[in-house]
Amino acid sequence: MLERTVHAACPHDCPDTCAIRVTVVDGVATRVQGDPDHPPTHGALCTKVARYPERTYHPERLLHPLRRVGPKGSGRYERVAWNEALADIAARLRPIAARNPEAILPYSYSGTLGLVQSEAMAARFFNRLGASQLDRTICSSAGSTGLKATYGRGVGMHVENFVDSRLILIWGSNSIASNLHFWTFAQEAKRRGAKLICIDPRRTETADKCHEHLALKPGSDGALALGLINELVANDWLDHDYIAHYTSGWSELQAVAANWPAERAAAVCGITVDALRGLARDYATLRPAAIRLNYGMQRVRGGGSAVRLIAALPCLTGAWRERSGGLLLSASGWANLRLAAMERPELRKHSARTINMSTIGDDLLRESSAEFGPRIEALIVYNANPVAVAPESAKVVRGFEREDLFTVVLEHFQTDTADYADYVLPATTQLEHFDVHKSYGHAYLMVNEPAIAPVGEARPNTEIFRGLAANMGFDDPCFRDTDEEIAAQAFGPEIDFARLRRDGWVRLPVLEAPFAAGGFPTFDGRAQFAPADLGPADYIAPYESAASAPELAARYPLAMISPPARHFLNSSFVNVRSLRSIEGEPLLEIHPEDAAARGILDGALVRTFNDRGEYRCKAHVTDRARRGLVVGLGIWWRKFGPAGTNPNELTHQRLTDLGRAATFYDCLVEVAAIE
Ligand code: SF4
Repeated sequence: MLERTVHAACPHDCPDTCAIRVTVVDGVATRVQGDPDHPPTHGALCTKVARYPERTYHPERLLHPLRRVGPKGSGRYERVAWNEALADIAARLRPIAARNPEAILPYSYSGTLGLVQSEAMAARFFNRLGASQLDRTICSSAGSTGLKATYGRGVGMHVENFVDSRLILIWGSNSIASNLHFWTFAQEAKRRGAKLICIDPRRTETADKCHEHLALKPGSDGALALGLINELVANDWLDHDYIAHYTSGWSELQAVAANWPAERAAAVCGITVDALRGLARDYATLRPAAIRLNYGMQRVRGGGSAVRLIAALPCLTGAWRERSGGLLLSASGWANLRLAAMERPELRKHSARTINMSTIGDDLLRESSAEFGPRIEALIVYNANPVAVAPESAKVVRGFEREDLFTVVLEHFQTDTADYADYVLPATTQLEHFDVHKSYGHAYLMVNEPAIAPVGEARPNTEIFRGLAANMGFDDPCFRDTDEEIAAQAFGPEIDFARLRRDGWVRLPVLEAPFAAGGFPTFDGRAQFAPADLGPADYIAPYESAASAPELAARYPLAMISPPARHFLNSSFVNVRSLRSIEGEPLLEIHPEDAAARGILDGALVRTFNDRGEYRCKAHVTDRARRGLVVGLGIWWRKFGPAGTNPNELTHQRLTDLGRAATFYDCLVEVAAIE
């Protein structure tokens, strides 16, 4: 028996980016465990990834290339050889590219966050092809743009340092479900006497374990931040020295905040004035005070502005002066990657239009026009499941159903999206390929060594795009780079790549208290409250709210959010039987008073609807949802829903104020019992 242990990293869309040890016995991965030596994740994996061998050897893994033989959406395919599949795909793409390569669109997101298997070789291929570019906005671009506007990049506290905070605001994050290792540090801080306050419309598992929970209305976070700033000013809880030396634009921001006394802010947020004032007092007086902000709160019209306002808070109180004070939304900007070396934009001979992934529903249905450019004729989907996750899915499905659309999907499983593909190409999982990772939750670079041979005929994304490039006749030398060579190109000389491979990770050189004396990565080193192109941020009401659309709010009085179920990660893991059995079935949480007003009993089948469509599932009558809010936990594949839909049947395609992002949590609905 030959047993060995391999260094790996979790590839999923989670800030923790855990270090993993894979036990391999005679070529079979038998166990995955957290690596206890990795400081930010210290040896624990979440329930989802602890079941990685189950997912890797799942009986429904796609093992061979498949070609569609039934109608789109039917899921009927025949097995084909790789050579035949790649040659035929190239033959289908070639005439489209000859007419106008912009009619070809890549569609990808965070199915893997690996730097090599996500975009590198794929980007080279699409650059060389001259395809349309994709604006990858579906999750976090409002928040990341807001953070960048204030701090210069996606930078924040070391997650390990929350352990010594005296106050932790967990803002828009169900950390137990989606940021487990931060939660471990927060719990230890709690044991050491810290106060934990959760700010979230839903009473999550995390809120249950905090000292306080502020259940604000979805999309009101910017108003809460302004109310807090107003209180900081009114009580002179400001660090004037920090503001004077390390920030810019305070007088403009202060003028906006003057319009937000606690009474007004609390009314917009749907909380009491006392709760808002108490929060301000705690934030100003319990030091060090730290904010763990997450992306849920920015999936609304004003999401970017809200992040800018919240990011101002630790600058106003000088919380950044201490290593356990400040804010963490993203740490991904600490890694100084050489993206151009990986993606080779110089291969692109002509500029091409950019399509926003958050409006794929509309864009797949558009005809050619001078404004839009050519109709989308071919779509290559990798690391993504847009039929399940993109907003306004009825339109997305209509687009994917187009008989004149040629669709290729690289996947592990027959997802909702794969059901519409002309070709499904089996991709390797993290245990089967090489990759390197940065993290958006900590300041470490990680390596993922392949632990086992590819299952079936699966190939790494890089290998699939190499094959497509060869069949298209692209002979540029960069298409011959190995995965290890691509990874090495990502880093400058400050990173010892050999050491990274030997140890499994390296810590980036980030100060313990990175902004104790300013030094933000902005043009002047100061945090920017009113940059020249944006001015000061203000509260922006959701598109779908009584303030912005009173007639709509009268017809659809319930706000719907659709955060991830604890045992799924976006739409990954939904088909892992043991995890799905924990989640049970698609549910809609509704407050007991809202349920009673509609004659809805716990466990009853309900229809949730608005002008865009209808979603059917069972009701869970619970005060986890505040009054006026319903929660459609996701992201279930549509095919697992009782009527073949999920909450994205109801979401819309309007975009955020900054970052052109999707506004999933800016959605009004009504709910009715089904007789
Ligand atoms: S999903 Fe997150 S918590 Fe779970 S193993 Fe991956 S990085 Fe760690």
